[in-house]
Amino acid sequence: MKLLVVGTVAYDTVKTPFGNREATLGGSAAYASVAASHLTRVGISAAVGEDFKEEDRALLSGRGIDLTAMETVAGAKSFHWQGEYEGDMNEARTLRTDLNVLTLFDPVLPPAHRAVPFVFLANVAPSIQLRVLDQLEAPKLVAADTMNYWIDSARPELLEVLKRIDVLLINEGEARQLTGESNLPLAGRRILSLGPSTVILKRGEHGVLQMGGGDAFALPAFPLERVVDPTGAGDSFAGGFMGTLSATGSLDRGAIRRAVVMGSVMASHNVEDFSMHRLAGLERAAIEARYVAFKRLTEFEDLG
Ligand code: AMP
Repeated sequence: MKLLVVGTVAYDTVKTPFGNREATLGGSAAYASVAASHLTRVGISAAVGEDFKEEDRALLSGRGIDLTAMETVAGAKSFHWQGEYEGDMNEARTLRTDLNVLTLFDPVLPPAHRAVPFVFLANVAPSIQLRVLDQLEAPKLVAADTMNYWIDSARPELLEVLKRIDVLLINEGEARQLTGESNLPLAGRRILSLGPSTVILKRGEHGVLQMGGGDAFALPAFPLERVVDPTGAGDSFAGGFMGTLSATGSLDRGAIRRAVVMGSVMASHNVEDFSMHRLAGLERAAIEARYVAFKRLTEFEDLG
């Protein structure tokens, strides 16, 4: 295993202008690992409840994802999130968060998982992210994500996490909330002063801004005319990003930029259908074609 993903494996109830879905497979770790499974060998550390369906477990294991550290907790229900999207669909409105099994989850990593070189602490309680950080043996790169829910309810633990990671991926609105800075590049700079050496600011249909190491890279989102369900865009971005880095092990400027593009490739595919339907069945040719389309979209010549 080259990449360990810690986070939620959940059931989501989602409403978008294209329809409603009740209790479909979701969760930050599920989206990130399915996206990464197209690029690298990935494992999940998460907890699910007794209600977790066999067909959903089969979808994850069918993608070759190592589930040995995905615990089923007796007597508990899986994490459930309910949200809706309106208008530009850039931000979800959370209607309901049922932590359920998450309140009981105390991850204990098997020895093989502790030695994994790349780790993604997907959106989950910062106390759980810290528990995992405590168990890692000299990882090469650790990235994390978070959201408003945890910025509001667990800020001190989140600031501890930030001191101990290399990359933070965060929505632009949440970067502003975390830092109190309304200007985005300044918010990015503030985040870099809190610990991470790289920050990736996710901007919905406006793409991403990556900052760190004296460098900055901006990429638009792929111009899709039909966004069916944005749920998991950020997590599938992270899966594409971390999957690319962990596949080659390279962390130079070019590698980081390729990873940002591959994150955008995965996120843009993911939002074209509900849940993980599109992401799970993605063909290599569709991944490569969109990577090339991104290159065409953004290339231009010197002024001359
Ligand atoms: P995103 O990539 O930001 O669209 O993430 C969407 C996923 O995050 C959904 O599948 C949810 O199950 C999951 N999620 C929502 N709220 C939380 C939370 N507070 N902690 C962890 N995961 C969450």
